[in-house]
Amino acid sequence: MNSFQVVAMPTEVANAVRATQKAPGYGFPAHREVAAGRAPCRHCLQLIRPHEEELLLFTYDPFREVGEPPLPGPVYIHAERCERTVGESSFPEQYRGRPLTLAAYGDQRTLLEERRITGDEQKQAEGLFQNPEVKYIHVRSTEAGCYLFRLDRV
Ligand SMILES: [Zn+2]
Repeated sequence: MNSFQVVAMPTEVANAVRATQKAPGYGFPAHREVAAGRAPCRHCLQLIRPHEEELLLFTYDPFREVGEPPLPGPVYIHAERCERTVGESSFPEQYRGRPLTLAAYGDQRTLLEERRITGDEQKQAEGLFQNPEVKYIHVRSTEAGCYLFRLDRV
Protein backbone atom coordinates (compact mmCIF):
# COMPACT_ATOMS: atom_id res chain seq x y z
CA MET A 1 0.00 0.00 0.00
CA ASN A 2 1.50 3.28 -1.10
CA SER A 3 1.17 6.39 0.98
CA PHE A 4 0.70 8.82 -1.89
CA GLN A 5 -0.97 9.48 -5.19
CA VAL A 6 0.45 11.39 -8.13
CA VAL A 7 -1.38 14.65 -8.90
CA ALA A 8 -0.90 16.32 -12.27
CA MET A 9 -1.96 19.81 -13.32
CA PRO A 10 -5.78 20.09 -13.41
CA THR A 11 -7.42 19.72 -16.81
CA GLU A 12 -9.22 23.05 -16.40
CA VAL A 13 -5.85 24.80 -16.21
CA ALA A 14 -4.44 23.02 -19.27
CA ASN A 15 -7.63 23.72 -21.23
CA ALA A 16 -7.67 27.38 -20.20
CA VAL A 17 -4.12 27.86 -21.44
CA ARG A 18 -4.91 26.10 -24.71
CA ALA A 19 -8.01 28.23 -25.21
CA THR A 20 -6.56 31.61 -24.26
CA GLN A 21 -2.84 31.11 -24.99
CA LYS A 22 -2.26 32.89 -21.69
CA ALA A 23 -1.00 31.91 -18.24
CA PRO A 24 -3.93 31.43 -15.84
CA GLY A 25 -3.99 34.05 -13.10
CA TYR A 26 -1.12 35.96 -14.66
CA GLY A 27 -2.20 36.76 -18.20
CA PHE A 28 1.31 36.55 -19.60
CA PRO A 29 1.28 35.16 -23.12
CA ALA A 30 1.97 31.43 -23.42
CA HIS A 31 4.65 30.45 -25.88
CA ARG A 32 3.92 27.75 -28.46
CA GLU A 33 6.61 25.84 -30.34
CA VAL A 34 7.69 22.39 -31.42
CA ALA A 35 9.48 20.64 -28.56
CA ALA A 36 13.25 20.69 -29.00
CA GLY A 37 14.54 18.86 -25.93
CA ARG A 38 13.25 17.07 -22.88
CA ALA A 39 9.87 18.63 -22.13
CA PRO A 40 7.59 16.82 -19.70
CA CYS A 41 3.90 17.69 -20.01
CA ARG A 42 2.51 18.60 -16.56
CA HIS A 43 -0.94 17.39 -17.51
CA CYS A 44 -0.40 13.86 -18.87
CA LEU A 45 3.12 13.63 -17.37
CA GLN A 46 4.42 12.13 -20.62
CA LEU A 47 7.36 13.63 -22.47
CA ILE A 48 6.40 15.89 -25.37
CA ARG A 49 8.03 14.24 -28.37
CA PRO A 50 10.89 16.47 -29.61
CA HIS A 51 10.77 17.70 -33.24
CA GLU A 52 7.30 16.21 -33.51
CA GLU A 53 4.79 17.54 -30.96
CA GLU A 54 4.11 21.15 -30.03
CA LEU A 55 4.27 22.46 -26.50
CA LEU A 56 2.90 25.45 -24.65
CA LEU A 57 5.28 27.13 -22.23
CA PHE A 58 3.67 29.33 -19.61
CA THR A 59 3.88 30.64 -16.05
CA TYR A 60 2.19 28.43 -13.48
CA ASP A 61 1.78 28.57 -9.72
CA PRO A 62 1.90 25.00 -8.40
CA PHE A 63 0.40 26.20 -5.13
CA ARG A 64 -2.76 27.55 -6.75
CA GLU A 65 -4.73 24.51 -5.54
CA VAL A 66 -3.06 24.04 -2.18
CA GLY A 67 -2.03 27.31 -0.54
CA GLU A 68 -0.21 30.58 -0.42
CA PRO A 69 2.09 32.33 -1.06
CA PRO A 70 2.46 31.46 -4.75
CA LEU A 71 5.70 30.25 -6.29
CA PRO A 72 5.23 30.71 -10.03
CA GLY A 73 7.56 29.23 -12.57
CA PRO A 74 7.71 28.03 -16.16
CA VAL A 75 6.03 24.76 -17.18
CA TYR A 76 5.20 22.87 -20.36
CA ILE A 77 2.07 21.13 -21.48
CA HIS A 78 1.12 19.52 -24.77
CA ALA A 79 -0.24 22.25 -27.07
CA GLU A 80 -2.98 19.85 -28.15
CA ARG A 81 -5.40 17.94 -25.97
CA CYS A 82 -3.95 15.11 -23.86
CA GLU A 83 -5.18 12.76 -21.17
CA ARG A 84 -4.47 13.86 -17.61
CA THR A 85 -2.67 11.36 -15.38
CA VAL A 86 -5.05 10.53 -12.53
CA GLY A 87 -4.68 8.49 -9.39
CA GLU A 88 -1.31 6.87 -10.04
CA SER A 89 0.16 5.54 -6.83
CA SER A 90 3.64 4.79 -8.09
CA PHE A 91 6.28 7.28 -9.10
CA PRO A 92 5.95 8.00 -12.85
CA GLU A 93 8.39 6.01 -14.98
CA GLN A 94 9.60 8.92 -17.13
CA TYR A 95 11.01 10.74 -14.11
CA ARG A 96 12.90 7.91 -12.49
CA GLY A 97 16.67 8.07 -12.35
CA ARG A 98 16.65 11.85 -12.99
CA PRO A 99 17.97 14.47 -10.59
CA LEU A 100 14.83 15.51 -8.72
CA THR A 101 14.06 17.68 -5.73
CA LEU A 102 11.32 16.48 -3.41
CA ALA A 103 9.93 19.33 -1.31
CA ALA A 104 7.67 18.14 1.52
CA TYR A 105 5.06 20.63 2.74
CA GLY A 106 2.83 20.71 5.78
CA ASP A 107 -0.02 22.94 6.85
CA GLN A 108 0.18 26.63 5.93
CA ARG A 109 2.47 25.69 3.02
CA THR A 110 5.34 25.18 5.46
CA LEU A 111 8.38 23.54 3.88
CA LEU A 112 9.26 20.71 6.26
CA GLU A 113 11.98 18.92 4.36
CA GLU A 114 13.69 18.96 1.00
CA ARG A 115 15.60 16.08 -0.55
CA ARG A 116 17.67 16.13 -3.72
CA ILE A 117 17.65 12.66 -5.13
CA THR A 118 18.62 10.64 -8.18
CA GLY A 119 16.89 7.28 -8.13
CA ASP A 120 15.04 5.46 -5.35
CA GLU A 121 12.13 7.88 -5.86
CA GLN A 122 9.37 5.71 -4.44
CA LYS A 123 11.27 4.97 -1.25
CA GLN A 124 12.37 8.57 -0.80
CA ALA A 125 8.82 9.85 -1.18
CA GLU A 126 7.46 7.20 1.18
CA GLY A 127 10.18 8.22 3.64
CA LEU A 128 9.09 11.86 3.58
CA PHE A 129 5.47 10.85 4.19
CA GLN A 130 6.51 9.03 7.32
CA ASN A 131 6.52 12.43 8.94
CA PRO A 132 2.81 12.75 9.80
CA GLU A 133 2.99 16.52 9.34
CA VAL A 134 3.78 16.15 5.64
CA LYS A 135 0.61 16.75 3.62
CA TYR A 136 2.00 16.78 0.09
CA ILE A 137 5.26 16.79 -1.84
CA HIS A 138 6.22 18.95 -4.78
CA VAL A 139 8.48 17.20 -7.27
CA ARG A 140 10.83 19.49 -9.17
CA SER A 141 13.61 19.05 -11.66
CA THR A 142 16.83 19.70 -9.76
CA GLU A 143 18.65 20.85 -12.92
CA ALA A 144 16.00 23.22 -14.25
CA GLY A 145 14.27 23.92 -10.93
CA CYS A 146 10.88 23.64 -12.59
CA TYR A 147 7.84 22.17 -10.91
CA LEU A 148 6.81 18.78 -12.32
CA PHE A 149 3.95 17.32 -10.29
CA ARG A 150 2.61 16.81 -6.78
CA LEU A 151 2.35 13.78 -4.54
CA ASP A 152 -0.62 13.87 -2.17
CA ARG A 153 -0.91 11.77 0.94
CA VAL A 154 -3.69 9.20 0.63
ZN1 LIG B 1 0.29 16.05 -22.19
